Amino acid sequence: MADSTEKTLFQKIADGEVPADVVYQDDRAVAFRDIHPVAPTHVLIVPRTPIPRADAVGEADEALVGHLFTVARRVAEAEGLSDYRLVVNNGAGAGQTVFHLHVHLLGGRDLQWPPG
Ligand code: C5P
Repeated sequence: MADSTEKTLFQKIADGEVPADVVYQDDRAVAFRDIHPVAPTHVLIVPRTPIPRADAVGEADEALVGHLFTVARRVAEAEGLSDYRLVVNNGAGAGQTVFHLHVHLLGGRDLQWPPG
């Protein structure tokens, strides 16, 4: 059985224990390029606090989760993007594979709606 105290993959990336192409970091969040990009810009924005999924966000996390949007804007600006999509998959049925909250920033091509 998984040890709940074990670090998530994204925590290891945030702590520099697993390599990643980091494009932004500060004391609360890290942003790095997805290893399987689905758009010319595909960056994951991750809080350093290991919240497992969107529906585990509590009132105490509101400022932190808002900060992820600030980071997304900074990364989008650095990438020269004015139009882009922010995605959070909540649960395996919605496509979540890493259970450490992350916002996908997708841009650099035309994006269709609805997504699959
Ligand atoms: O929303 P979801 O949980 O599916 O997103 C996880 C993302 O993490 C995937 O897009 C996957 O390509 C990415 N990933 C990564 N580096 C890893 C493992 C997964 O960028 N080492």
